[in-house]
Amino acid sequence: MVCLYCGSPTKVTNSRTRADNLLVWRRRSCQKCKAVFTTLEQIDRQSAVAVKKRNGHIEPFLRDKLLISIYDSLKHRKTALTDATALTDTIIRGVLTKMTDGSLKIDDLVSTTHLVLLRFDKPAAVYYASFHRANS
Ligand SMILES: [Zn+2]
Repeated sequence: MVCLYCGSPTKVTNSRTRADNLLVWRRRSCQKCKAVFTTLEQIDRQSAVAVKKRNGHIEPFLRDKLLISIYDSLKHRKTALTDATALTDTIIRGVLTKMTDGSLKIDDLVSTTHLVLLRFDKPAAVYYASFHRANS
């Protein structure tokens, strides 16, 4: 990767993986201007994971779509956005293990999301289920 500021080659000076091994953090240093910055490497789920709908249609997995549906369910909480962000990551880790032939069944995504919400905030789970059980 080249320098953000001058376009010269950079060197990795430190690298760490997150505990779940789904993200790599790297500290880079520019060999010319000596600028230091951080890069994050993670799976592009949108291209790597497909969601299989009940009607058989396949669509890309959109993290933001999941995040918004969880946020909507948690709107009664003051910490809705923070909670929704953390729960989204938890749900993604859970559903990735349920993938078969490169796709994820919508029912697995919905049931995992519902279960995680049920453990965290029962009214949110009820709200989520009212929108996602029948018409996903
Ligand atoms: Zn530079």
